[in-house]
Amino acid sequence: MSYNPFENAQTQFNKVADMIGLEQGARELLREPMKEFHFTIPVKMDDGSTKVFKAFRIQHNSARGPAKGGLRFHPHETADTVRALSMWMTWKCAVVDIPLGGGKGGIVCDPRVMSQGEQERMCRGFIRQSFALLGPNIDVPAPDVMSNGQHMLWMMDEYETLAGSHNPGVITGKPVGSGGSLGRTEATGYGVIYTLQELLDAEKVNIKNTSASIQGFGNVGEYAAKLYTELGGKVTAISCYHAADKTAYTYRKKAGCNVEELCGIKDSFGSIDKDKAKALGYEVLPGDAWLAEEVDILIPAALENQITPAVFPNISKKVRIILEAANGPTTPDCDPLIQERGILLIPDFLCNAGGVTCSYFEQVQCNMNYFWSREEALDKLKRAMVNAFRAVYDLARQRNVYMRDAAYMIAIERVSSAAKLRGWI
Ligand code: NAD
Repeated sequence: MSYNPFENAQTQFNKVADMIGLEQGARELLREPMKEFHFTIPVKMDDGSTKVFKAFRIQHNSARGPAKGGLRFHPHETADTVRALSMWMTWKCAVVDIPLGGGKGGIVCDPRVMSQGEQERMCRGFIRQSFALLGPNIDVPAPDVMSNGQHMLWMMDEYETLAGSHNPGVITGKPVGSGGSLGRTEATGYGVIYTLQELLDAEKVNIKNTSASIQGFGNVGEYAAKLYTELGGKVTAISCYHAADKTAYTYRKKAGCNVEELCGIKDSFGSIDKDKAKALGYEVLPGDAWLAEEVDILIPAALENQITPAVFPNISKKVRIILEAANGPTTPDCDPLIQERGILLIPDFLCNAGGVTCSYFEQVQCNMNYFWSREEALDKLKRAMVNAFRAVYDLARQRNVYMRDAAYMIAIERVSSAAKLRGWI
């Protein structure tokens, strides 16, 4: 069965809209993006040919502030994935209560097979095509899957060249020293673990007595694994993609993975070197083996549509918690099965909101032209994540609802109130 992320996002929204009796105007407004842009980017390739890349920028809602969201580089990017992600960004900014709306973008490309020069020309081309749609007070992109700080800096430079002025707040996720915020690199992964720590405290479980299995060892998976193990948790397995073999593998050490050691043998796209891992004593298992690990916590931190009814029976009965570090890793038809088993699930747009929260801090610092220490940024991030988590956890308890539904209730209420106050509905 194949899943469409936008249909998944709408299914989740419709369910909670029914639960809270959301009025018709708000329902129609919020179930679709407000603005969509599709364009092409012609790029001169190193061999002298011209390649035309397809791109999207989608702004779901800006009632609470400028649209905000990543820009993904992926050969299989689709408009529906970007639509879903722009919608989740609206809920994400609302649930952590930052004054931003939801947006997302994508370029259909594979940076793994492009030279630096080709990537730079594509980034600059993206800005030339979308200049009028972006701006610190309109829509602010950031890095996402396979895009990084260098890409953001080329884009900022092109934007400033066209604008004829400095506008560092137009893009976040920039390198530190060039308008980036300290703490941004680790913000999403750390944010995942800040919410876990709060959940464990509320459930009176010591993190040192827990174990986890992770899918994805890119930006999010790496820093989640780092903070989790620093706090005393044990990661027994990590699954990631192997570009040369065109498949994923799970790397397992039952006694506990050494995260630093694995970081030393992975590439910049989050792929672990299989032979070096074997030499270090890791078992190399099929890519989906991470799901069947006998652990307390599963952390999907790679892709959407990974936890489905088809694979749910493989999940160990020991699992008590799912942390949705990736966007949309669970399909809506699997939520009832997770609830039935009594697994506590921290939903994606709460769990991985650390990245956008720190991106918001980056914008604030850029606008002030005054930069904070790493401690200050992470301290503010932790407070924002803890407050957001507590509000969702408490509401879920009070109303006896699934945490995903509680998070949606809070987010939808905030966005629809803002739209109503503006007189849109
Ligand atoms: P990334 O590109 O840095 O890493 C992705 C990881 O997933 C890599 O380790 C890759 O090998 C692995 N992967 C890819 N296909 C796989 C497969 N079939 N099986 C197993 N592993 C596979 O991406 P990222 O920035 O870490 O983002 C991961 C997820 O988190 C995405 O859903 C993204 O939208 C979401 N997210 C990212 C951020 C952020 O700040 N980076 C913020 C919020 C949400």
